[in-house]
Amino acid sequence: MQKQLYRIGAGYSGECNVDSYIERTQFPHSMKIFTDVHLCNSPKFTFQIDTLILTEQYILIIEVKNLKDSVQFIPNPPHLVQILETGDEVVLDCPVYQIESNKSNLDEWLRQRGIHLKTLGLLVLANPNTKVIDTPNDFPIIYKKQIPFYLQKLRPAENILTVNQIQELAKQIHAEQQQFNPFPLCSYYHISPNDLRKGLLCRDCHGQLQQKNRETWYCQRCSKKAEDPYNDGIRDWFMLVKNSMTSSECRSFLNLKDGNAARYIISKSNLIKKGQSTATFYISGSKLNRP
Ligand SMILES: [Zn+2]
Repeated sequence: MQKQLYRIGAGYSGECNVDSYIERTQFPHSMKIFTDVHLCNSPKFTFQIDTLILTEQYILIIEVKNLKDSVQFIPNPPHLVQILETGDEVVLDCPVYQIESNKSNLDEWLRQRGIHLKTLGLLVLANPNTKVIDTPNDFPIIYKKQIPFYLQKLRPAENILTVNQIQELAKQIHAEQQQFNPFPLCSYYHISPNDLRKGLLCRDCHGQLQQKNRETWYCQRCSKKAEDPYNDGIRDWFMLVKNSMTSSECRSFLNLKDGNAARYIISKSNLIKKGQSTATFYISGSKLNRP
């Protein structure tokens, strides 16, 4: 779950600081950038793209890899061997092969929408110290600091998409993301909410928090201080369990002493009240429960 949240939250390319390099590039206004895109070609086949750029001249898939020490490309069968400084070797999926399959998946997705073109691919190495051995000649691999120059240079003479087509594709891509909304995570991962730990938990080590005084809590396990643990707990509920909350659910999930405590905490949060008397429930006032 943490991995999934990490991908949705910061975004992998964002975490590797690749987004900021893309933003430094001068693009025409019609250009659209998407991150962590899920698309489907048939009910049973979906594919995921780290970063997708649509412009009038090209459609580009960017995959980001953070690899340390040396990597060697082996063409047949396609794989990557990572050679660590310790001398240990690790076999990894070939990122070029991954991008090539995503390119054909995306070409097919576009074809189903009446657009016939070949998408482009780019592999970006997030670590400036990655040494590459036996680089494939026919596929662009660059370090992240080279992104602005690479994209600026990438200006095919012909236009392949109109501004209207870009807008229409952007709409369809946005629409398809809804189906892949993984929140709440318990239903996405088939985990029973009853199996979740209750109470106020430390964000660092997940130990139980102990209240020290009215405004301060500390972790019994790692001794770190916690601020605003109630709102953290409410946010967890919306991410993990459900897109609404009643005061008794709040009381039980946060291990509060009674309903008054729950109602007080909800009144201090940014939750929005819906319904009346015993049917009262609350929904999130922010987009915390959505990607
Ligand atoms: Zn802790």
